[in-house]
Amino acid sequence: PPVELPIHEAVLGRAAAHGDRPALIDGTDGTTLSYAQLDRFHRRVAAGFAALGVRKGDVLALHSPNTIAFPTAFYAATRAGATVTTAHPLATAEEFATQLRDASARWIVTVSPLLDTARRAAELAGGVREILVCDQAPGHLSLIDLLACRDPEPDVAIDPVNDVAVLPYSSGTTGLPKGVMLTHRQIATNLAQLEPLAATGPGERILAVLPFFHIYGLTALMNAPLRSGAAVVVLPRFELEGFLAAVEEHRVTGLYVAPPIVLALAKHPAVAAHDLSSLRYVLSAAAPLDADLAAACARRLGLPPVGQAYGMTELSPGTHVVPLDAMDQAPPGTVGRLVPGTEMRLVSLDAPARDLGAGETGEILIRGPQVMKGYLGRPDATADILDADGWLHTGDVGRVDDEGWLFVVDRVKELIKYKGFQVAPAELEALLLTHPGIADAAVVGAPDEHGNEIPHAHVVRSGTGPTAQEVMEYVAARVAPHKRVRAVTFVDAVPRAASGKILRRALRERT
Ligand code: ATP
Ligand code: MG
Repeated sequence: PPVELPIHEAVLGRAAAHGDRPALIDGTDGTTLSYAQLDRFHRRVAAGFAALGVRKGDVLALHSPNTIAFPTAFYAATRAGATVTTAHPLATAEEFATQLRDASARWIVTVSPLLDTARRAAELAGGVREILVCDQAPGHLSLIDLLACRDPEPDVAIDPVNDVAVLPYSSGTTGLPKGVMLTHRQIATNLAQLEPLAATGPGERILAVLPFFHIYGLTALMNAPLRSGAAVVVLPRFELEGFLAAVEEHRVTGLYVAPPIVLALAKHPAVAAHDLSSLRYVLSAAAPLDADLAAACARRLGLPPVGQAYGMTELSPGTHVVPLDAMDQAPPGTVGRLVPGTEMRLVSLDAPARDLGAGETGEILIRGPQVMKGYLGRPDATADILDADGWLHTGDVGRVDDEGWLFVVDRVKELIKYKGFQVAPAELEALLLTHPGIADAAVVGAPDEHGNEIPHAHVVRSGTGPTAQEVMEYVAARVAPHKRVRAVTFVDAVPRAASGKILRRALRERT
């Protein structure tokens, strides 16, 4: 059943009872915030926000890398009745201004190293009343100042069904990022639906390396573990050595990651130099993960197979997950089973009204209480993805086996049409990564000299690596002729979004 609670209640309802247990641990310097502190601090800061003039429905932009203060700012804002729009900490002032303007943001909470960007963005956007910082900066109010607020807690009547709690922006993989309106009920309900993914509880230690500002990090690394009483070890960015050191030092038990991290864990020699014996599971989401790569990673770490989850910003975000207790039984490559209270259909790509059965491949449609309210200010874009019967057309291609396990093939828009055949770039990327001389790879559809679309691989070599001819021969020996890679460009790095997705758009612009 839907959970009709404000998200700060859904997540922190039991925080006071967890008392001195660590809620957040800074993975670089060990500074710890207990549950009792998180509970008290976010209530005080909420009072401070209210005293400052934050009113129900105001949009507050939270512009910060992952820090142990992030959740305090976030839940204080929702408790004060604000809608939080989370912003990419590395966005340029222009990009951030676009978001501020689009969201009609009135408040910014940032960190001192990002103040210049935030100030510039606020100037460009207009309409921002105040910029606060989580740490300290001369001339700016800080959350630390708000902690001293003696006002009573704001008593804001939140309507979980209609009030928008979070306004994250989609990753912008396929176009410009869109503001996604997610209500308190949508988020709170999805947290309950994803409970098996979040089967953490006190004693568990989750490493928060994916960004909190993206819906995956926000859910899997902040809301879900804090709701269960787990400790969240916070890292501001992914850098393999620091990541491994944090797992070792803080005895991390669970990793929620994206495929590039699975790749690093499977291939990088540094992994062997660390004691990672505290780890019990690894779960990946946000982009296609190849089954062989997942298996190689798990073998290397001595863990059960890497599980997956599937979702999108518009789905608050999750609809499928491999439950932690089923990681051993799940078929390789699956993104999981449908969460409770949710419906799924697969429809034909050629005849969109035709429903498909088990084993057939088509577009994934979802209906359920976690489907977004809509895109902010974009009724046309909303109508394009969300039909009158409440089905959200994900734009992803998948199939289900007869036991209900979902397999995601790729995005409809990314499928390469080679002479009438459909080729999934994700499949070719996975194959390329099995070559010992290839460190990373991305495949896009690109026109050949006759204007026909062909699979074009962008490859990062390790060591001397293969020649373009060898790359093409390696693939040709292993796939049907229509799937062959027909052009190769060597690159220094594959461009990726913060959530780990390949930015194929950026590659296409280069070719
Ligand atoms: P935009 O909508 O702005 O183009 P985006 O779709 O990348 O960007 P997100 O909402 O962050 O923005 O990502 C959702 C998408 O991520 C899904 O539609 C799907 O394509 C992909 N995805 C998520 N989980 C998985 C998974 N386990 N396997 C494969 N793809 C996944
Ligand atoms: Mg999308």
